[in-house]
Amino acid sequence: MQTVDVVVIGAGPAGTVAASYLKKQGYDVTILEKEKFPRFQIGESLLPCCMEHLEESDLLTAIEAKNFQKKTGAAFMRGEKRCEFLFSEQFTKGWTWTWQVKRADFDLTLAEATRAKGVDVNFECEVLKVACGPDIQHIEYRDVNGNIHEIQSRFIIDSSGYGRVLPRLFDLSKPSAFSPRGAIFSHLEDKNRNEETSNNIFVHSFDNNQSWIWAIPFSDGSTSVGIVGDKEKITAMAENGGEAYKNFIREFEDLSGRFKDSELIFEPRHILGYSIGVKKMYGEGFVLSGNSTEFLDPIFSSGVTFATASGLLSAKMVHKHLQGEAVDWENEYEMVVQKGINVFRSYVTGWYSGDFQTIVFTPLIDNDIKKQICSVLAGYVWDHSNPFVKKHDTILATLAKVIRMKEKNVENHGSLL
Ligand code: FAD
Repeated sequence: MQTVDVVVIGAGPAGTVAASYLKKQGYDVTILEKEKFPRFQIGESLLPCCMEHLEESDLLTAIEAKNFQKKTGAAFMRGEKRCEFLFSEQFTKGWTWTWQVKRADFDLTLAEATRAKGVDVNFECEVLKVACGPDIQHIEYRDVNGNIHEIQSRFIIDSSGYGRVLPRLFDLSKPSAFSPRGAIFSHLEDKNRNEETSNNIFVHSFDNNQSWIWAIPFSDGSTSVGIVGDKEKITAMAENGGEAYKNFIREFEDLSGRFKDSELIFEPRHILGYSIGVKKMYGEGFVLSGNSTEFLDPIFSSGVTFATASGLLSAKMVHKHLQGEAVDWENEYEMVVQKGINVFRSYVTGWYSGDFQTIVFTPLIDNDIKKQICSVLAGYVWDHSNPFVKKHDTILATLAKVIRMKEKNVENHGSLL
């Protein structure tokens, strides 16, 4: 039977970053990936922080060569109100830009670059069963011809994303506290694009902050447009080939006719109930990374950045373990990943409660505060010198309350006092 140091399940951003980093340390690494690449995946707007992870796993150069659409900021809108964040104006010292990518191309590039480093990347190989032990892990998978194979490894990194292989097999999933929402999306021609709408993700909030639209531009002139809302709304929009979605995109006032005459590049797809939690991110002989851990909500485009962050950290921990050093998985891995997730959890909560919008849409917003929030939006959620990271669980609600009081005073007395 084939034996390797590490088997990575899934060739998405979490899996390729982990595999590439471990190969660099000299390990024998095999990726088992269920799909044939290129394959569609949702999650097209990156955050600047993930550039660090791509760089450290030696994958940045391969992505740079693809000339993906540069992303320099994020613009939030609600009716007439708008607030634009530029990553060059942020609190944390870090990357000031990133990319917006078609994931089919992005993930294929990552997988090919990982393979070029010597990782054995196997497409159309679906992991079916796993048995873990202290030293040797057994993995059973099915290849494209339906043949069943077994492989052994010293460790497993589960980066199977929405497939959640080990959470399913080992009963590690737990329900999310967020309401079940869904999204419907397509790629559209975008002839009405200008410089500003090319370099930013545009997010329009509506339905009293319960629904929103994303517009994520790509380098080929097309744009990903998605609507997020409660499960029932998205289910209804998906009926009759997404007729309601198409009409909404063409007529929604806040998009100012940007997609009025745009052709859809593919029929709308939808995804429901994606928010999910996890009971534990590690166990004997395995660790979870990326969407196999917890997925909150797409609103702040944090998914790929968490995938690369946790992929990289999991690989570092596996390296330490395989070197014979003791790893404190709880504190060195799970708590670190969880800290970042918890920061975004507060912002997602603040988005749907409307506190985030109150803060960013007020003309009273302080420039230093804006820079600190901008660093969270850039993915720097482990920078505890940022008060908007450190006090994430209280700061949004408190600040929003103060702003509402000030705005009321202006409304009633024409002054802030
Ligand atoms: P994935 O990208 O899902 O990769 C996992 C891989 O594992 C897949 O290729 C899959 O085929 C493979 N796999 C699954 N099961 C098996 C198996 N049994 N055996 C072998 N292989 C298997 N994130 C952002 O950063 N920006 C965004 O703008 C954004 N928008 C989003 C919009 C929506 C509506 C949703 C729901 C999510 C969005 N996300 C976004 C999140 C993003 O999709 C994920 O967080 C990201 O893709 C996670 O990467 P990953 O590597 O963990 O998993």
